[in-house]
Amino acid sequence: MGLPEPPSLGASALPAGTFADQVVIVTGGGTGLGKAMAVEFARLGARIAIVSRKEEHRAAGVAAIESVGAKAIGVGCDIRQPDQISEAFDVVERELGAADVLVNNAAGNFPVPAEDMSPNAWRTVVDIVLNGTFYCSREFGRRHLSAATPGNIINIGAAYAWTGGPGFAHSAAGKAGVKNLTETLAVEWAPYGIRVNALVPGLFPHEDEVQAIRSVPERRKNDGARSPALRVGHPHELGWAATFLASPFASYITGHTLVVDGANWQRRSMLMPEFVPIREQLGKGPFGSD
Ligand code: NAP
Repeated sequence: MGLPEPPSLGASALPAGTFADQVVIVTGGGTGLGKAMAVEFARLGARIAIVSRKEEHRAAGVAAIESVGAKAIGVGCDIRQPDQISEAFDVVERELGAADVLVNNAAGNFPVPAEDMSPNAWRTVVDIVLNGTFYCSREFGRRHLSAATPGNIINIGAAYAWTGGPGFAHSAAGKAGVKNLTETLAVEWAPYGIRVNALVPGLFPHEDEVQAIRSVPERRKNDGARSPALRVGHPHELGWAATFLASPFASYITGHTLVVDGANWQRRSMLMPEFVPIREQLGKGPFGSD
């Protein structure tokens, strides 16, 4: 049986218009889970800014928002570059108004054993996941502190922030930093009316997955059976969690990391399955052989 299916796409637990007159920035909001979260904010009345590097991604995000009757713009920006972030926030402010909510969703990721990981690969992923999240949050926080206005930040994490992530040393370390940053910023900025929470998706397959993730051996084979929930997550379920956390109904919740994964990350077996080293899981030969 597993966990029941949720209400269908288009339903909402929050009142219509919860984010009317609000502006929401979603980094990486043109694809996958970012797009799904952006759409849920849009359904509840928000104007959306999709911030990412590639024009075709931004256009897809804008089209998804417009298809539910809301207003959206795409703003080109590499979140590894603080100057570009500042310019992007200026564009959003000019075209939609000051951002009330920031969803730090953009990420880069690909599996590689740590011993094969180049310094450049490490730097790139940590730069997007951790540094980019900090730079965007800093820009958002400084603007709200100057204007004396409340705001909400939602950081998108991953469960290997707690456990480590064999094959994903760069991303796991970056996400651990994001979880920790969520807690620090929540304390520092609560006096100014800014809440900072995190959301951790479990297994949420989607059509925009990059090739490096899509090609993980066994990915997408029998996904539903890989979790105690006996099903995968639906991207709009993450959207519901994000909109709740940023809504006034969560106004005493800050510094929290909400895991939406059907209890997958807590699973243990009485006897764990036989151990398979990460090189073998990725179909790689001995170190140095390829
Ligand atoms: P995705 O489809 O690969 O999307 C990543 C997005 O980030 C893209 O839209 C990309 O847009 C943007 N991006 C990447 N680098 C950027 C940069 N330097 N500057 C600006 N934007 C950048 O990822 P996803 O699967 O939807 O995942 C969304 C979030 O959930 C991520 O934080 C991920 O770590 C987390 N997560 C996902 C899963 C899952 O099952 N899918 C599980 C756990 C955690 P451009 O290429 O246009 O820049």
